[in-house]
Amino acid sequence: MKSTYQIAVLPGDGIGNEVMQAAAALLQALEPRIGIHFALEWHKAGAQHYLDTGVSLPESVLRACEQADAILFGAMGLPHVRGADGTEIIPQLDLRFHFDLYAGVRPIRTFKGLPTPLSHPKAQNIDFVLVRENTEGLFYARGRGDVRSVDGIETEVYDTMKISRHGTARICEFAFKLAERRAATKGREGRVTNVDKANVFASMAFWRKVFEESAAAHPGVAADNAYVDAMALNLVMKPWTYDVMVTENMFGDILSDLIAALVGGMGMAPSGDIGDKHGLFQPAHGTAPDIAGQGKANPTAMLLSTAMMLDWLADHSGDTRLADGAAMIERAVEHVFANGSVRPMEFGGPHGTADVTRAVVGALKAKAAT
Ligand code: ATP
Repeated sequence: MKSTYQIAVLPGDGIGNEVMQAAAALLQALEPRIGIHFALEWHKAGAQHYLDTGVSLPESVLRACEQADAILFGAMGLPHVRGADGTEIIPQLDLRFHFDLYAGVRPIRTFKGLPTPLSHPKAQNIDFVLVRENTEGLFYARGRGDVRSVDGIETEVYDTMKISRHGTARICEFAFKLAERRAATKGREGRVTNVDKANVFASMAFWRKVFEESAAAHPGVAADNAYVDAMALNLVMKPWTYDVMVTENMFGDILSDLIAALVGGMGMAPSGDIGDKHGLFQPAHGTAPDIAGQGKANPTAMLLSTAMMLDWLADHSGDTRLADGAAMIERAVEHVFANGSVRPMEFGGPHGTADVTRAVVGALKAKAAT
């Protein structure tokens, strides 16, 4: 078993930098407790780097990510930094396509001690995973927009959605395998809900057909379908009824923010972008320019993303110490919120990034020792 794991660290812009400091402190505290050294290699990339150098994601950073055991990512993009076509500089999308990180995994759950905006008592039991197809769908159109002009005046612009059998089958397979795994851990039947718009678009009807084929290959997991508009309603009305849901890239992008709100905000929503070879882990939030540089960001999403990275590394390497480390982080986060000692500013509390980090690191050290 390896004694050192190489982690490519891309803090990026805005609060990406701030929450990454929290992740680094946590990994450092974890090292002696699981007997593993994390060699963190820090790299510059993002919108500010683009302003400074003209390049948002240097080749050398891509190579370093390729070599690393995993990629830990903060957030990138600034509203005033845009390319020639008017879109933001968003290297995380380039990384997803480059490394074929086809599964955007967004677990969402309530934490004891923290309020949810939903008043229904069952909202305390939210615990599901949104699986977003990351490499095609409407995002396939990025950089390919077809701008039509008449007499030099732009008149129509087309962004085309791509749904392939290969892309859909592999993301559905990923979702069913995840549901099987969750079912085994939780001791109950698994369920995958497909979210599409098959009543309107041929591409989505095809997506649903491929989902149904995947469902048939996994008879032990319950499967159902929902239109994305109905899902937006259901996710507010009864989010506690879901287990795993799988959806197209753009729908997944939108629903990701909605589900983060269910448990208190973006600072509570971790994510992993996972392919067959590489894994990139980042909070679901962006660079939050409105609070950047003020020490207000909730680092919890980043810390939980770090735990996801360790779980993924454990699966890939068979090194159970990494899974132990992931569990320690989860327990530490649960502990600081459950005992009421910490209330992030995102929840209207007094605690900023450094306070939350200190509390979680402290709980990790204390818990690991008991
Ligand atoms: P992107 O499109 O890059 O994902 P976004 O436009 O969705 O970004 P975010 O940067 O995620 O926007 O911010 C959305 C809102 O959530 C902002 O008001 C921001 O301050 C808040 N927010 C995001 N992350 C955090 C965090 N970790 N802690 C506290 N508030 C946050």
